[in-house]
Amino acid sequence: MDGRTALVTGASRGIGQAIAIRLAAEGAMVVVHFGTDKDGALATVGEIERGGGRAVAVGAELGADGDVETLFAGVEAALAGGPLDILVNNAAAPPAGPMGVTTPAEFDRLFRVNVRAPYFIIQRALPLLRDGGRIITISSVATRMANPVQTSFAMTKGAVETMSLTLANELGARGITVNAVAPGATRTPANGAVFEAPGVAELIAGSTALDRLGEAGDVADVVAFLASDAARWVTGQVIDASGGLFLGPRLQAAGA
Ligand code: NAP
Repeated sequence: MDGRTALVTGASRGIGQAIAIRLAAEGAMVVVHFGTDKDGALATVGEIERGGGRAVAVGAELGADGDVETLFAGVEAALAGGPLDILVNNAAAPPAGPMGVTTPAEFDRLFRVNVRAPYFIIQRALPLLRDGGRIITISSVATRMANPVQTSFAMTKGAVETMSLTLANELGARGITVNAVAPGATRTPANGAVFEAPGVAELIAGSTALDRLGEAGDVADVVAFLASDAARWVTGQVIDASGGLFLGPRLQAAGA
């Protein structure tokens, strides 16, 4: 990816940070977006630079009025008139709980951050995006599972999967591929405490074909593949990056 440029939203920590570091290791100059955690974004930039790569941190609170313009003022400054090759929509708000407790304000915020922001980021990025470029949006296995505590969150991820499918058909004429990546339970600094509660990691591993929790790097590697030339013939897809979470009964693992 030498000579290419990438924008990764939500790259101040977790999966987005791992994606930014991975794309930079492949040679891309990465715009490291953050919402509030500037120190986290600067840590991402620092790690990229220590590895010999190039990166710039740009802040913009997604979901706020003017979010996309704020973001692209920074992106265009970082690109210095050059094109964008890879757009990774990773930033998202977490699940807001089951239907019984979700407020209209929480529901609206989820859709503003998880759906409206990536949609208009893509719209704003398109004139900058080089023909043959890549658009990758991070979804979730929540779209193929019936988890009552994630109904509204899963709805937002279903929306971006549909967006990716239809955009793939529209943007194919420019050689731009559009895909989604769906992580399963993935350990990050933000959710690490959840997985450290007694029995939780074991429960999830026991429901995962590959028998462990995911790590941010597991997802970043899949994004790097989709961003690479090797994935030039893959578009309009949702690529599961969950290690096979909740594929079905694990009779062999249970000794049955
Ligand atoms: P995370 O650790 O919570 O990090 C979220 C990132 O998004 C942060 O960099 C945060 O930036 C940014 N962000 C969130 N809301 C924002 C807003 N309103 N404006 C601007 N930036 C915002 O998340 P993660 O676990 O790495 O998840 C990354 C992606 O994978 C998300 O799309 C998530 O839905 C998906 N996913 C994760 C899992 C999992 O188990 N971790 C499972 C399925 C899907 P600041 O902190 O700077 O505000």
